[in-house]
Amino acid sequence: MTTSVRRSIVLAVVVLLASVTGCTSSTDDRSSVDPAASIERGGDPPAAAEPSAPTPPTAPTATTTEPSSPLVGRTIVLDPGHAGGNATHAAEISREVFIGTGWKACDTSGTQTHGGYPEHVHNWDVARRTEALLRAAGAEVVLTRTDDDRWGPCIDERARIGNDAAADAVVSIHADGGPDGGRGFHVLHPTAVTPQSAAIAEPSRRLAIAVRDAFGRITGMPTSTYLGSSGLMPRGDLGGLNLSTVPKVFLEAGNMRNATDAALLSDPGFRQAEAEAIVTGLVVFLGGG
Ligand code: ZN
Repeated sequence: MTTSVRRSIVLAVVVLLASVTGCTSSTDDRSSVDPAASIERGGDPPAAAEPSAPTPPTAPTATTTEPSSPLVGRTIVLDPGHAGGNATHAAEISREVFIGTGWKACDTSGTQTHGGYPEHVHNWDVARRTEALLRAAGAEVVLTRTDDDRWGPCIDERARIGNDAAADAVVSIHADGGPDGGRGFHVLHPTAVTPQSAAIAEPSRRLAIAVRDAFGRITGMPTSTYLGSSGLMPRGDLGGLNLSTVPKVFLEAGNMRNATDAALLSDPGFRQAEAEAIVTGLVVFLGGG
């Protein structure tokens, strides 16, 4: 190596060191000291702070994701109770199906408010609103029916849809037809009357509590004054629960025969709150909170 080459290398190293030193002590870097970091060190003003270390290369923030919602990648089955075509298909929906403990009609046509707002319309609308919120949060969603015009499916088939989807949770959406003077919502959860329901009774009860808590808080609907206890009601006579192999509850969102509840259930804004409450309940259940 010649002297001139060696001198060139030395010069290059000096220049490189100077540039690195300059980088870490420049006025620009002093002015960019994070005020929050100063506060952590005891509130020294930025000018008195030690020079900060060189800022590392920018991380690939474009690929960094937010902390995942418990809903991301989960499969939720929504079961809008009854169907628009049930009332005109009496023979089909009265056909008995096996519900694990005995036989029961395929389905019913549901109830309605005194003003003529049908339960199946409420259930379908709340299910679609809930579906939209769940999909936006990253969940896979399966509905047990694809419209509100045809009849069915029967209650055993509704349970099978949740089972075949290997759903993380199933919420069947209803509104009750109780006594005119009774108010409020309640959540039905399975009792251990079949091998299937015995296996899901505990997680389903946790799901019921999560939905109950969220529904009361977000919608303001009181818990039922005429059924259940504190908004919860175990049931062993519903095919949709008896045949489920995945955590499942029925929401009875209010009493359609009560004037106050009926006005709420007929209001699109209230139904959006219902959807938000169901999603919140699912987040709590799936997040283990
Ligand atoms: Zn119903």
